[in-house]
Amino acid sequence: MREITMNETDKQDKSFPAGMVPLGKSKFSFSCHPGVSCFMKCCSNVDMLLYPYDIIGLKKFLGIRSDQFLEKYVQVVKGANPFFPALMMKMTSTNSCPFLGAEGCTVYEQRPLSCRMYPLERGVDRTPEKGRAAEFYFLTRHDYCKGHEEQQDWSVKEWLRSQNLLFHNAMADQWAEMDTLFAKNPWAGEGAAGPMQKLAFLICYNIDGFRDYVAHHNLLDLFKISPNRLRSIENDDEALLTFGFDWLKLLLAGMPTLQPRKKR
Ligand code: SF4
Ligand code: SF4
Repeated sequence: MREITMNETDKQDKSFPAGMVPLGKSKFSFSCHPGVSCFMKCCSNVDMLLYPYDIIGLKKFLGIRSDQFLEKYVQVVKGANPFFPALMMKMTSTNSCPFLGAEGCTVYEQRPLSCRMYPLERGVDRTPEKGRAAEFYFLTRHDYCKGHEEQQDWSVKEWLRSQNLLFHNAMADQWAEMDTLFAKNPWAGEGAAGPMQKLAFLICYNIDGFRDYVAHHNLLDLFKISPNRLRSIENDDEALLTFGFDWLKLLLAGMPTLQPRKKR
């Protein structure tokens, strides 16, 4: 996924980054299947950023812990955010995705967001005065991709549904909010890799490590949390991630995302 951020001028005159025209309701032709001559080509020589929810989906699919996933499959890199590291999939010695098998993607059900989204790119206008963020989709193409020559027509809505992108996008939006917060350098002078940033890294990228932390520090006892939410947090990594994001917003920006319990 590449988040396209519209700049101030864009917002005012409702134009989009150079050369990009949102699809709106128009249809596009695309199909990716083992019969295309480029099959699996896009799974090699690729810089693939991984987002918090990608890690959860993949580690669950592989039946391993998130820290094991990070160790084996991930490279920590300097991404677009100057104040928080990004994660990139570690390619194999032949520069292919580690999940590329002889017959295609071996983690297809839990493939990362960027693999699901192609050939679309999503842009989000988060102008606060407008209330709800507005999203736009653009068609993108790799030169070598023959999928665009196939005769299957899609509307954006149909594509999002077919790739199970609605839930993934919702998780990506939560992450985008955190990324925006981190870009304001909220580490209170601790700098990179200080204790707060380490905690944020744990929450965002190592959900099993964060679960251990929560249990060790009885963190859930510190806040008023409804029984339903508590049950979800205890059983579900996505709910725990959302709780972690809320806690970070409270810690780093004083946002009233969680209500502390009164001390007895
Ligand atoms: S996760 Fe699957 S679809 Fe995505 S690059 Fe790797 S092999 Fe290809
Ligand atoms: S290059 Fe395009 S058509 Fe070929 S495998 Fe990748 S997404 Fe599918």
